Amino acid sequence: MTLSALIQKRENATATVATPAAHNLNKAGAVAKVASVAVATQLFPEEETAIRAWLAHIEETYPVTIADVLAKCAANPDARAYCLEQARQIPPPLEPDYTATCGTCTHFQRIDHPNLGHCAQGEPEAIAGLWDTDRRWCRSFKQAPDKQEDSRP
Ligand code: SF4
Repeated sequence: MTLSALIQKRENATATVATPAAHNLNKAGAVAKVASVAVATQLFPEEETAIRAWLAHIEETYPVTIADVLAKCAANPDARAYCLEQARQIPPPLEPDYTATCGTCTHFQRIDHPNLGHCAQGEPEAIAGLWDTDRRWCRSFKQAPDKQEDSRP
């Protein structure tokens, strides 16, 4: 559930805006007040980018919530540190460990077409099937010993 969905749900129930992230930001704000920490009023562009990336990662798309989080981060160093730490913990995007073409895969079952076939492993494919020379990332790929790149039967 996104932050905005949580907010809307809580607004409907109790008219209280409080989400896990906002709650943590509020706690961080309380700490800042007690500690009398100097408050910045702006985020560096790279900080805003990182925080926006974290919000996107947790599927927060509600513009008001995003603006609120950014404003809190700009005004509160502890909130900023919390959000930047969350942003640092975003796992890196999955990088394909190789690219493959179905035409060189042992699981490719060619049909009566010069380029099309189907996957014997049940990998997702279009209704028409898989194009043998399209590069794709596929965990099920297994090099066919008798098929080289761009080879045709
Ligand atoms: S296992 Fe992957 S690469 Fe091999 S035919 Fe199926 S979809 Fe293509």
